[in-house]
Amino acid sequence: MNRLLLVLVVAVLIVLPQLDAVPTFWITQLNYIGMSSLVVLGLLLLTGIGGLTSFGQAAFVGIGAYTTAYLSTRLGISPWLTLLVAIGLTLVFSALIGAITLRLSGHYLPLGTIAWSLSLYYLFGNLSFLGQHDGISGVLPLNFFGISLGSGRYIYYLIWAILLLALWATHNLLHSRPGRAIRSLRSGAGMAESFGVNMAVYKIIIFVYAAVLACISGWLYAHLQRAVSPSPFGLNYGIEYLFMAVVGGAGSVWGAVIGSTLILGLKDQLQNWLPRVFDTNTNVELIVFGLLMIFVLQYTRDGVWPMVSGVWNGLTGGRGARKQTHPPLAAAQLERRARPESNTLVLDVKDARKEFGGLVAVNDISFQLKAGEIMGLIGPNGAGKSTTFNLITGVLPATSGEVSFLGHRLDGLRAREIAKLGVGRSFQHVQLVPTMSVIENVALGAHLRRKVGVFSALLHTDRRSESELLHEAAQQLQRVGLGDYLYEEAGNLALGQQRLLEIARALAADPVLLLLDEPAAGLRYKEKQDLAQVLTQLRNEGMSILLVEHDMDFVMRLTDHLVVMDFGTKLAEGDPKTVQQNPAVLQAYLGGIDDDFDGDELAGASGSGSAAATPAMASQSMPKGV
Ligand code: ADP
Ligand code: MG
Repeated sequence: MNRLLLVLVVAVLIVLPQLDAVPTFWITQLNYIGMSSLVVLGLLLLTGIGGLTSFGQAAFVGIGAYTTAYLSTRLGISPWLTLLVAIGLTLVFSALIGAITLRLSGHYLPLGTIAWSLSLYYLFGNLSFLGQHDGISGVLPLNFFGISLGSGRYIYYLIWAILLLALWATHNLLHSRPGRAIRSLRSGAGMAESFGVNMAVYKIIIFVYAAVLACISGWLYAHLQRAVSPSPFGLNYGIEYLFMAVVGGAGSVWGAVIGSTLILGLKDQLQNWLPRVFDTNTNVELIVFGLLMIFVLQYTRDGVWPMVSGVWNGLTGGRGARKQTHPPLAAAQLERRARPESNTLVLDVKDARKEFGGLVAVNDISFQLKAGEIMGLIGPNGAGKSTTFNLITGVLPATSGEVSFLGHRLDGLRAREIAKLGVGRSFQHVQLVPTMSVIENVALGAHLRRKVGVFSALLHTDRRSESELLHEAAQQLQRVGLGDYLYEEAGNLALGQQRLLEIARALAADPVLLLLDEPAAGLRYKEKQDLAQVLTQLRNEGMSILLVEHDMDFVMRLTDHLVVMDFGTKLAEGDPKTVQQNPAVLQAYLGGIDDDFDGDELAGASGSGSAAATPAMASQSMPKGV
């Protein structure tokens, strides 16, 4: 949200309750919007951004409300203390529930949330010390330094102050090191693990965070309502919160406020009008909500936030929007890993094997890679090159064989543990977070190079680390030629540029060993030349590079050593010149169904060595599909 709009909103919020002309009903409505927004803000992070659907948030509101109602009425404990107890309880409960249910995937997770939300609901209604279905009444209003917040016009300020604080903190969180990990949960979880991010932990973090926001909302609710009973914490309300999150959209933290406002406003109007139209007192509005939900999901998947910000930008001519264009300010360089001496054995693959059922995708492959060397792994499509990459980087477990990196055994380690040792990679099928900016995508690669916890991200005390990470990302982007696209959404880049982004992201991890899976695919001639130059420079700096690539000219010019695979098996190995004369290799390529291709071209392109390459040769590719 831009500054001007923010100042306007806050000013209106401050003045509203002071105006006698504003009916009490409005204030009450705003109080409920504020409390709902807190819950929905958590859902926005959990479901909208993290992709983890929860129908059960109302149950956490219940934990907050019941804890304070019970402790303050029965044991006479100060409500401010009960807030801490409620948050503590929620932390324990949600971490426990999260650890169990977040392992579920697909449709099972939402079903799981329904299950525990129903359990908690019935627990509230059946425990005699919580008053069973009558609940607990006689909850005292909050007292703020002698001022009673009994009136709606007073507690209003507390509700909205807490909400604004939560919006600010959540916004901070999203634009930080942990936030980038959270934003990659939905579309790039596997990729993020390859950069050392522990996704299971981030899932639990956002689950607990959303639960705590819901708990605070419940605490406020109990002291506003002065009584609690089970019904507002049931599944119906869980669904309503989710609906608010979907309607608001996850494009901005303000989506939470917009979703809550729209749904609560609409609910109120429908409750006024529908009984008159249909002559009934049943909850007809639920039917309208259902229809509306289908409409929203069909026509405006991202919620109404994009429309709201679009209208505002139209009104202000886009002046309010602070679109960043300049590179981030220079910051201290991140420490770099020590490079092994040249000729040190970096990667040692021994009899690596991968079977997918009956298919042997990698058939006892062995090769070695030394420091400061670029090795090419070539072969027709389906030869097992990408699978070999996945075995080295821990994305797939090997069926048998050994992989060692600088003396550490990699087989058996997880992808994120391998990343920690200094292995960086790109993916054949580009994996990035399309809604995140280019620079943020690359900063995700440097995840392991700075420790920034969730609290320091929430409070924005991570400025220094953050600027160092972004500075590093910008440098790597400049290196691969994407310096002009720092703040572009990654999804808007052309495919070739997205591949370059992947290389920059891998470089941001400061790897000793870099694995690139078809980095030049989709690049133009000039871009390929630039890329070759970058890779040569990296080699000179002592980096080891393993390269899968179909562009033969690119491969022949760049690599010191080649391994040729076909049907999972190593066909040949050696320096590029020897390999291209190898009869088995020629046979494998001649066996291709690509009629345009003949052996002379392979020999010609590679025989040209480094200097005599022509553009025609540069575009020469291995035949695809054998
Ligand atoms: P390349 O990268 O050399 O084109 P891949 O390593 O992607 O080849 O694939 C090698 C073989 O393994 C192919 O036949 C492919 O269909 C198969 N394969 C790859 N990944 C899987 C998987 N996850 N499950 C089953 N088969 C797979
Ligand atoms: Mg492949």
